[in-house]
Amino acid sequence: MTAYDPSNIFAKILRGELPAHRVYEDDRALAFLDIMPRAPGHTLVIPKNPARNILDIDADDLGHVAGIAQRIARAGMKAFAADGITVQQFNETAGGQVVFHLHVHVIPRHDGVALRP
Ligand code: 5GP
Repeated sequence: MTAYDPSNIFAKILRGELPAHRVYEDDRALAFLDIMPRAPGHTLVIPKNPARNILDIDADDLGHVAGIAQRIARAGMKAFAADGITVQQFNETAGGQVVFHLHVHVIPRHDGVALRP
């Protein structure tokens, strides 16, 4: 697998080199709003340690990111009066990944409302 590239956009956000609307942060993870939200409240959760995707992330870091995604999902249900939540995570180009720092999409959903493309 290709090595982690620290010039990716999310690494720059972590280093404070690019802005982001941060909604949660601790010593191991960061959550921020997606710049092209597929629905209001579309949030990305990333580990602070470098990890290209699920294929190379440390299992403890993955568990921590999953726990934060759960917290963001629960908060999103309330904050956006959502009917449900979509959680997505893509790996490598063939798997739909565009930014090569592991991230989990957490997207509030409403009955009968399709995701934006
Ligand atoms: P994926 O790699 O999961 O296919 O998609 C990457 C996601 O990152 C997309 O939803 C895209 O809108 C989001 N994204 C790309 N560049 C930026 C950026 O500079 N800031 C933020 N907040 N989100 C971004």
